[in-house]
Amino acid sequence: MRHGRTTSSSLEDMVNRQVADRGIADPRVLAALREVDRAAFVPSDLQAEAYDDHPLEIGCGQTISQPYMVALMTAELELAGTERVLEIGTGSGYQTAILARLARQVYTIECVAELSERAMAALAAMGAANVCARVGDGTLGWPDAAPFDRILATAAAPDVPPPLVEQLADPGIAIVPVGPRSIQNLVKVTKEHGQFVRTEFCPCVFVAMRGRYGFE
Ligand code: SAH
Repeated sequence: MRHGRTTSSSLEDMVNRQVADRGIADPRVLAALREVDRAAFVPSDLQAEAYDDHPLEIGCGQTISQPYMVALMTAELELAGTERVLEIGTGSGYQTAILARLARQVYTIECVAELSERAMAALAAMGAANVCARVGDGTLGWPDAAPFDRILATAAAPDVPPPLVEQLADPGIAIVPVGPRSIQNLVKVTKEHGQFVRTEFCPCVFVAMRGRYGFE
């Protein structure tokens, strides 16, 4: 959002110009972005824009996030490979696929069944075996599988949903876009030795989160 928009004709160009050149240096994150083809998660009529610098419509009024935003949130999760991660808002499954390459196990919740089904088909096609998906209200978290080392929401909430804070492991990191419908900030909640630290690190615009602690 802070940068001029570019178009990219290849995955490599997308990663180099939209992500690496904008300061995301974590080699594991860059490698995951190069290994997961964003085009596989983009609807057929938008393939020409699959590597472009903006969100894209995926149907049901929802979007696949801008590549830079996916990269930034993933980098801020500081994944080493051993973590159990909860994702709220499966959407296209693109962010899920990136997380699956960088963490041990990914639990992902989507409230629109049609999107969840499509995302799981795309994830199965790329051979992601460490993803558990569920249809439901992600603002309630996934109590049966908690606690989670990392929690990532990819829809905007009025505030960090309390169940997500409760289901965060110690140590743990949660990232949630927080703010009104029009514009939000990425909020990072870090839990360590029983203490929570909350920081805001980037303005952003996400689709509204629904559900108990969402907007509706
Ligand atoms: N990470 C996705 C972004 C999808 S947009 C991607 O890369 O494609 C956000 C998604 O959150 C939408 O699919 C929307 O349906 C979903 N969503 C909104 N509120 C939700 C809730 N309470 N629980 C689960 N999913 C939710």
